[in-house]
Amino acid sequence: MQGKKARLEELARRIKACTRCSLYRNRRNAVPGEGNPDANVMFIGEAPGFNEDVQGRPFVGAAGKLLTGLIESIGLTRGDVYITNIVKCRPPGNRDPLKEEVEACKPYLIEQLGIIEPSIIVSLGRHSTRLFFQFANLEFKSIMRVRGSPRVLVINGVEYTLLPTLHPAAALYNPGLRSLLERDFMVLAQLLRKRRGDLTDWLS
Ligand code: URA
Repeated sequence: MQGKKARLEELARRIKACTRCSLYRNRRNAVPGEGNPDANVMFIGEAPGFNEDVQGRPFVGAAGKLLTGLIESIGLTRGDVYITNIVKCRPPGNRDPLKEEVEACKPYLIEQLGIIEPSIIVSLGRHSTRLFFQFANLEFKSIMRVRGSPRVLVINGVEYTLLPTLHPAAALYNPGLRSLLERDFMVLAQLLRKRRGDLTDWLS
């Protein structure tokens, strides 16, 4: 079988040629995602915005700058993790993605999870978190109720730890939310330490 990098590249080629929903009509670039094919942590946002559409890369605008800073605040780099969105093409005017757009794009996200096999999924914001709750047949009420609390999810028979948090753009609009986002990244750091600890126990 091909390696993870080659499988992700082949998937990215399919995403760039995708016409499953109408978003392809207005895109400059589809945004498949980027990062380490062997990442332990996957960050999953909503959909590309203006800058992402221009560059074909996820989280490269103002929200991306905040996300990058948060990732670095816990000792990781963007190159250590994998970053993508539930919808791979920009909705016009940055509107919320429609249900049918999320549905049409969902198989790509599931393929990415199957290739990368992260142990931790960080869902950024309500749209991404709602989709993961749907995968696990859990009722989703509000992002504020579930953010910062990790839970185990099984998708296609594989176990992941889901950590829902706020979308970084929400903290740009409402700076009062920034401390909550920072707190959730501390939870992520703890989860990673715990994983490393488990591995150290196992190796000793
Ligand atoms: N917001 C998102 O949800 N994703 C991006 O890639 C950029 C902004």
